[in-house]
Amino acid sequence: LQKKQMVQKSGLLELIDTPEKLENIGGLDALKEYLKKKAKIMHQLPKAEKFGVSIPKGVFIVGMPGCGKSLCAKATASLFETPLLKLDMGSMMGKYVGESESNLRKAIKIAEAAAPCVLWIDEIEKGFSGIGGHNDILTRMFGYFLSWMQDKKSSVYVIATANNADALPPELKRRGRFDEIFCVNLPNEEERKAIFDVHISKRKNNGRKREIKKDYDFESLIEETDGFNGADIESVVNEALE
Ligand code: ADP
Repeated sequence: LQKKQMVQKSGLLELIDTPEKLENIGGLDALKEYLKKKAKIMHQLPKAEKFGVSIPKGVFIVGMPGCGKSLCAKATASLFETPLLKLDMGSMMGKYVGESESNLRKAIKIAEAAAPCVLWIDEIEKGFSGIGGHNDILTRMFGYFLSWMQDKKSSVYVIATANNADALPPELKRRGRFDEIFCVNLPNEEERKAIFDVHISKRKNNGRKREIKKDYDFESLIEETDGFNGADIESVVNEALE
């Protein structure tokens, strides 16, 4: 409770209460397996440390919008059984010189006090895309963030998500900051089927689960949805039910 108040009062981080589960993500199998392995470590940190396993730093997830990046960040917090703190890059930016920088330091401090937790930096490219230009404050903030990631000893697991990694400085993608980078693409046929499964099973029919195989012509659904992302597939299911 104390942690909750501390986070809310700061105005820099948002505490997200989420019921999302890894099972409700269709596709992204490699990423899901990876997160499950990290969960094992997060669930027994003292033992892992004693054994010489380093504390997981975090993961960088890049790719097409609507493909489940945010979903993964939320599901990770459930999987790790830790709070999820969302850092909004926009709210970091203060009006006064130096304010943004101290906001970032403050936000990181709060996250460390709330550890173990997942710190989700959504659309990190929006925050750090002006680096290298004339924006000194942004460059300093970025430097601070990088060195924090590099030296991090706390169990703040950072999940950064980005729709477009081109605009991001390469330092961010270098080893030693995040443990791993995952790219998510539009779902292939099998993944689309898995996403349909998730969304159809979620919506119950008279309290009974829909009999997916009987009610749906999967073959044509999958054929027709080439180029759709997960969010598109969800709205196909919703519209069909309506
Ligand atoms: P992103 O963060 O990549 O832009 P989101 O995770 O916010 O995308 O996805 C938006 C919505 O679309 C999700 O809340 C979910 O309902 C649906 N969705 C997207 N990808 C998937 C997926 N792989 N499996 C199941 N649902 C998905």
